[in-house]
Amino acid sequence: MKTKTCALCHQEIVSYEDCSVDHIVPKSLGGSDHGNNLQITHTWCNHLKDNLSPWQAKIFFFINRYFFPIKKGKLSRRPKS
Ligand SMILES: [Zn+2]
Repeated sequence: MKTKTCALCHQEIVSYEDCSVDHIVPKSLGGSDHGNNLQITHTWCNHLKDNLSPWQAKIFFFINRYFFPIKKGKLSRRPKS
């Protein structure tokens, strides 16, 4: 079985419930629903990315990867109400 990797944090997606389809360019920034604007990510990474533009997300997750390693369930720095 092929392992899926989160497009944002680059860690393995272990279970199906943990994965989510993310818009690379958020719809709020004019991104489309077309396949080339979609990527597979963790659900929590997707929430964390929210409406960041692609380059903002890149920087954000780069910083997170090296300084604040992402752990499931410990991402709610900006919890959604
Ligand atoms: Zn992730």
